[in-house]
Amino acid sequence: MLPLLFLDVDGPLIPFGGADHPTYGPMSATSDTNPLLARINPALGPRLLALPCEPVWATTWGEDANAEVAPRLGLPELPVLGWEDGGRPQGPLHWKTRPIVAWAGGRPFVWIDDEIGERDRSWVVENHPGPALLLRVAPEAGLTEDDLAAVGRWLAELDR
Ligand SMILES: [Mg+2]
Repeated sequence: MLPLLFLDVDGPLIPFGGADHPTYGPMSATSDTNPLLARINPALGPRLLALPCEPVWATTWGEDANAEVAPRLGLPELPVLGWEDGGRPQGPLHWKTRPIVAWAGGRPFVWIDDEIGERDRSWVVENHPGPALLLRVAPEAGLTEDDLAAVGRWLAELDR
């Protein structure tokens, strides 16, 4: 079984804060589409698909990630991480941390997010029996070549 890749949208795929961000492609014809979607770099899609892992959306976009984000990246429909009380703080932990570890069920995983903290890292070490890479992305930059390279190296190392 391939490792899992839990993928956040706001921050890694839709950068925010900092300087102006480039935009890509035409805006959607529908007027209710979030204009931030234009910040998604379509070139990231093939890069993500080339990684030897199974991607899962882990984002407040929920099912909208499949409807709005995946087509811009050329990604197929992906499973979506669900959670109870979505968005509410889980004590000192990020609210995605427990559901991600539960979903993984011991399987190796990568989690790409701009909100990973030290508490999340230590909780995963204590509660997840397999290998895990928690990659914190700077939201001002979004997912970079260096980030993708780090994930690629980690997955290759795991495969040995
Ligand atoms: Mg985020």
